[in-house]
Amino acid sequence: MDESTAYEPARPAGGETRATPVGLATMAAVALCVVVMAAVIIAVIRNGSAAAEPLVWPLIIALLLNLAVILVGRKRHVELAQRLHHHLDSSEGARRLSLNDPLTGFLNRRALVEEGAAMIQDATQRRLAVAMLMIDLDRFKTINDLHGHAVGDALLARVATEIRNELPPLSLAARVGGDEFACVFIFNPSEPKTVQRIAERLVSRLARPVDLGDTSIRVSASIGIARSDQERTSVEALIRAADIAMYAAKEAGRNRFSWFDPDMARALHARNELESALRAAIPAGQIVPYFDQQIDLSSGQLLGFEVLARWEHPIHGQIKPDRFIPIAEQTGMIADLSQSLMSQALQAARDWDPALTISINVSPVQLRDAWLPQKIIKLLLETGFPAHRLEIEITERALLENLPLAQSIIGSLKNQGIRVALDDFGTGYSSLGHLRALPFDRIKIDRSFVQAIADDQDSAALVGAVASVGASLNLPVTAEGIEDLALEARMRALGCARGQGYLYGRPMDAANTRRLLAERRLLAAGSAASEAERRLVG
Ligand code: C2E
Ligand code: CA
Ligand code: CA
Repeated sequence: MDESTAYEPARPAGGETRATPVGLATMAAVALCVVVMAAVIIAVIRNGSAAAEPLVWPLIIALLLNLAVILVGRKRHVELAQRLHHHLDSSEGARRLSLNDPLTGFLNRRALVEEGAAMIQDATQRRLAVAMLMIDLDRFKTINDLHGHAVGDALLARVATEIRNELPPLSLAARVGGDEFACVFIFNPSEPKTVQRIAERLVSRLARPVDLGDTSIRVSASIGIARSDQERTSVEALIRAADIAMYAAKEAGRNRFSWFDPDMARALHARNELESALRAAIPAGQIVPYFDQQIDLSSGQLLGFEVLARWEHPIHGQIKPDRFIPIAEQTGMIADLSQSLMSQALQAARDWDPALTISINVSPVQLRDAWLPQKIIKLLLETGFPAHRLEIEITERALLENLPLAQSIIGSLKNQGIRVALDDFGTGYSSLGHLRALPFDRIKIDRSFVQAIADDQDSAALVGAVASVGASLNLPVTAEGIEDLALEARMRALGCARGQGYLYGRPMDAANTRRLLAERRLLAAGSAASEAERRLVG
């Protein structure tokens, strides 16, 4: 028996005999026939054949009529029985279709909820527990995009087979989303290790390459586990808990499993709250640009600013980008966020000294949008900010996803006169290939290396190597995270051209940046406000 339907309730067998109206009529006709024949025989015996003659003829006619009814009835009965069987068969097919996923043969969500409830009840009565495993393939969308949906479907079917082979007998297995599977089975609550072992085997089995005709595909899976004796006992609540644990496994780096714990639900709730608040915060203008100074390390001169996003939350105060940029990226809000931030930053910088540049971070998610250059150029036109004063910072992580598209986007930006910097160099793949293949204008060394340089030989070697690669490719290098004069001196000695960091001050909002520029007489000559501000500061 298919283990995924082990808990199917019994139904009457298709061949079972049933009493129908036609069957009853036939039986009545047979009985009547017997009675009429008996009446004829009795009449003949009692009265002799001649005396019985007037009685016999009506009885014979009745007998023939009865025989006709029996024959017609029998035919009709057979027809009806056939129709009934056919109907039962097709409604069983429909029932199966409505409960099973056609691609994998697994249960669907509805069936999982029904049959899972029965299993939980059974387990509870036997003082056992039920484990719910939520299995999600990692980056399945990319496989679909790269190889097409037919390959994606074939892969899902294979994954289902692999899952089925690892599950204990009588488990329920369901496909509950595109690439999401749920498995339920009974275990002894004092031995959660048995569940853990199954999860471990599933993770390693699903990480093996899958041969599909002429392609071999590598996937992995993240699994969340919830148990009915600790979490709430409804199937839906178990699904939610296992789902939360599955996301925790993804956050922890994918290709692993994770047990549900209540802290995860609290974290998820907080994240959801932050997400809906962010959705409102972007149009409300609560995401504002802060400006981080970029300094020429040889002359100490201010060259420009990097724009950093800050969320000025009316209740929680200022929120750092590490908390909300990932949410904006995951939910598709990053494009709107970035658009609003760029627009504010470019407007603020419009009447600064024309020698000052603006560097803006662009997320890997935005590099999937072939229209990104057009959007940026439109903003430049709207704000009247010259392209040559704008620099876009792109991380190496962004190049890995779709190098040809990144190449074309970077090419379009460069054609418009916008400069492009490779950000966070050293943290990703640090591929020289990327530096050669793409026309970057600058490399930025991540602050984690810069700051580790004092007590870590490897970091010092890496910063030195990056600086000399920069020199050989004629690319100036910016060192981030310079917090003191000693570090500044070392970066200068290693050949870094620019520096950023708290040594030069904390990132400031637009008003404070403007005040600083006024002090240093770095507002554009003739800017309406500049003279008044200079007098005010002076
Ligand atoms: P990042 O691009 O590497 O930005 C530099 C980060 O280092 C900023 O943190 C900055 O405040 C911090 N920093 C600067 N100098 C120092 C220093 O001397 N010491 C220390 N400890 N830190 C320093 P922040 O603003 O929290 O930004 C964090 C990251 O968030 C940024 O790293 C960037 O990856 C991302 N981010 C910020 N704004 C945006 C944005 O508008 N769009 C996108 N896509 N990402 C952004
Ligand atoms: Ca940056
Ligand atoms: Ca950085």
